[in-house]
Amino acid sequence: MQIKNITVCGAGVLGGQIAFQIAFYKFNVTLYDINEKIIKRATTRFKVLGKSYKTDLNATQQEIEQSITRIKGTTNLKEATKNADLIIEAIPEDIGLKKEFYTQLGEVAPAKSIFCTNSSTLLPSALAESTGRPERFLALHFANMIWKRNTAEIMGHETTDQNIFDTVISFAKAIGMITLPIYKEQSGYILNSLLVPFLKSALALYVDEIADPATIDKTWMKATDTSMGPFGICDVIGINTIYNINKIAARTGDKHAQKVAKVLKENFIDQEKLGTHNGKGFYTY
Ligand code: NAD
Repeated sequence: MQIKNITVCGAGVLGGQIAFQIAFYKFNVTLYDINEKIIKRATTRFKVLGKSYKTDLNATQQEIEQSITRIKGTTNLKEATKNADLIIEAIPEDIGLKKEFYTQLGEVAPAKSIFCTNSSTLLPSALAESTGRPERFLALHFANMIWKRNTAEIMGHETTDQNIFDTVISFAKAIGMITLPIYKEQSGYILNSLLVPFLKSALALYVDEIADPATIDKTWMKATDTSMGPFGICDVIGINTIYNINKIAARTGDKHAQKVAKVLKENFIDQEKLGTHNGKGFYTY
């Protein structure tokens, strides 16, 4: 099956980026969201996104403008999906909201449409039934800053059709992604399955006062010949996100997570040290 018409549902941070990336690779995209104001805001953001494509990918002004013309916004789900070969869902990370959305989508979308979720944390099997077409449903997970962090983690659930999985792999390649097929369901896909325990270990060394962040980073960077250590990575991700992950883990009785959450709140968030995006975190930028 060839993918020609794509619909992206949810015009927020990731939905906007996904739509623009697809359009940049010369596909027509329909962008759906719940109200006109959000669609308008996404359209304004395309101009800003275009600047990053120019800086990071040497894209021309003409390529940017043509990409924008390939994206059509709408708030009508039936209209948005009427010719869709592929529908990529990027609505908020809320299982109830997503289930409700897939039930609605399953009713209006053509039988041929493949559904993909961009969910960061939910397993496709948790949503499959609500789609009404589990065999045509899987996860296609993009990273924030899709144009340069161009990874696509592709993960089905037990009854995803292999041909559908392969079709999505081919499509992801066609929009400039490095495709990362995952054979079984795994919470956190590949990247976060590696990254979360790594950061957790580094933060434990810090809150247990085994060593300071700069020494921990230096150890990792020198010994593995990489340019960033775990605390540099925390600054890029943003201290708020790291805090939220630990706050959730703290509720399960995880003692280190409780200690980490407290330290991050008092020594970082309350002092407006939020990471690279505001110039201060574990390091000053
Ligand atoms: P966001 O809040 O920026 O955007 C979500 C959009 O969905 C909003 O524009 C909202 O109006 C819209 N929406 C809400 N309900 C809707 C509905 N019923 N129908 C259609 N649109 C609806 O969220 P985001 O950061 O773009 O995240 C979206 C998804 O992408 C989540 O599943 C998240 O886990 C995943 N994701 C996010 C990132 C990230 O860095 N932000 C990275 C990878 C994956």
